Amino acid sequence: MEKKQKRYFLAEEEIPTQWYNIQADMATKPLPPLHPETKEPLTVDDLAKIFPRECCVQELDTEHAWIDIPQDVLDKYKFFRSTPLVRAYALEEALGTPAHIYFKNESVNPLGSHKINSALPQCYYAKQEGTTNVTTETGAGQWGMALSYASKLYGLEAAVYQVKITMQQKPYRSTVMRTFGAAVTGSPSMSTRAGKDIITRDPRHPGSLGTAISEAVELAQTTPNTKYTLGSVLNHVALHQSIIGLEAEKQMEKAGEYPDTVIACFGGGSNFGGLAFPFMRHNILNGKQTEFIAAEPASCPKLTRGQFRYDFGDEAGYTPLLPMFTLGHNFKPSNIHAGGLRYHGAGVIVSQLLKDGMMRGEDIPQLESFDAGMLFARTEGIVPAPESCHAIAATIREANKCKETGEEKVILFCLSGHGLIDMPSYEQYLNGDLQNYAITDEDVAKNLAELDELV
Ligand SMILES: *Cc1c(COP(=O)(O)O)cnc(C)c1O
Repeated sequence: MEKKQKRYFLAEEEIPTQWYNIQADMATKPLPPLHPETKEPLTVDDLAKIFPRECCVQELDTEHAWIDIPQDVLDKYKFFRSTPLVRAYALEEALGTPAHIYFKNESVNPLGSHKINSALPQCYYAKQEGTTNVTTETGAGQWGMALSYASKLYGLEAAVYQVKITMQQKPYRSTVMRTFGAAVTGSPSMSTRAGKDIITRDPRHPGSLGTAISEAVELAQTTPNTKYTLGSVLNHVALHQSIIGLEAEKQMEKAGEYPDTVIACFGGGSNFGGLAFPFMRHNILNGKQTEFIAAEPASCPKLTRGQFRYDFGDEAGYTPLLPMFTLGHNFKPSNIHAGGLRYHGAGVIVSQLLKDGMMRGEDIPQLESFDAGMLFARTEGIVPAPESCHAIAATIREANKCKETGEEKVILFCLSGHGLIDMPSYEQYLNGDLQNYAITDEDVAKNLAELDELV
C-alpha cells in the first residue's frame, strides 16, 4: 500500500531565519499612511510616537524583501515552531473530492492561535528601546493572550482593552490574559476619553476592535514609556507572520507538492498575508499561477463589498489614515462569534493586492462557517476557532468544485487557531440558536457616505 504521510515538520535548524517583506516585490507599492489632521504622509518618526520604532521602520520598508529575525525571537519561536503541515485525508474522504487538502496548523501552540508570531517580535523591539509598558486591543482575545504572554517574557507591563461583547461571549480568554499578568478592561470603557465619548453616544455599544483600538492608542499616548501594539492590519504584523508561509513552503516541498490555491480567513489580513505572501512572491517573480482566497464573514464584508479609500483604523479616529478596503471606521459589525474577523478594514498591503487582482475575497455566512467547522472537527479531530471556520468553509467550496470538474487541485489553508475557548459559540450552534446576519448594500453605502469629508 502507498505510504500516506500525514504531517510534515521542520527540524529546528530548518526554521526560516528571515521574514519575507512582500512590499519589496510588489509592482504597485502601497500608498503611505497619512497624518489624520495634516493629511501628510507619515514618517518613521511620526509613527514611532505610538509604535516601537523598529516596527515603524519595517512598516514603511518597500526595499528589503528579507528581514532578519532577531536571534532572541527565533529562540522564543522554538517553544512551538515549527508548526506541522497536515494533509487532511479524512476531510478529503468525507467530501469525496479529488483535491489534495493541506493545512498549516497554527493552533498547536499553547496560546492557540498564530498571533504569538507577531507578539514576540513586537515586545522584543519595545523592550530593546527601553519601553516599560505596552497597550493593545483584542477582539476574541487571541491577540490579547499572545501579547500578555510575550510582554511577560520580556518584562513589560501589558494593558489590554478587550471588546465588551466578546469578553462576555468568551470569558476565559480574559482569565488567561490575567494569568499572564495583564490588566484587562472591557471596551468601550469609562477609563479613556474615547471610551466615554462612545458610551455617551451609544450607552449600549457592544464594542468592536475599532473602539478598543481607540482606547489603547489613547492610553499609549497619555502614559510615559508606553507603546501601542497591534495584532493585525499593519504591514509589520504581516511581515512577522510570514514565518507561517515560509515554513509551509519548505514543508510542501517535502510533500512533493505546490499549492494551486491558498486560503486563509480574513480579519485584518495577518494570517492570510503570513501564509499567502511567501507563495505570492512566486506568482510575482516566477510566473506561478496560484490562486489566493481571503475568507471573510458575510456580515463584515470589506473585501467583497467595501470601498478602497483612506480611512481610520479605529472608531474615534486616533490612528493614521490608511489606504484600505473598508466598510467605514464607524461600521458596527454584527455580533458574530468570529470576534477576530469583526473589523471594518483590510490591511494596507492586502488592499493594494486585491485592487491589483492578485487575490480575491470570498464572503461566508456564519452558519456555513460553523457547518464547515463541524465537519472539520469530526474528520480531523480539531475543533477550529470560529475565525478559522471561514477558511475551512472556503476550502470546502473549492474542494467541491474539484469534485465537479475532477481536478486534483492542491489546496492549502491556514488553521489560524483552535476553538477550545470558543465553546459557547459551538454550544449555540449545536442548540440551533445561531443565525446568519445580512447587511444590505444600502447599509454599506450609507456608512461609507459618512466618510466623504476624510480625504
Ligand atoms: C485574530 C485572528 C484572526 C484574524 O486576524 P488576521 O489578522 O486577519 O489573521 C483569525 N484567526 C484567529 C484564530 C485569530 O486569532
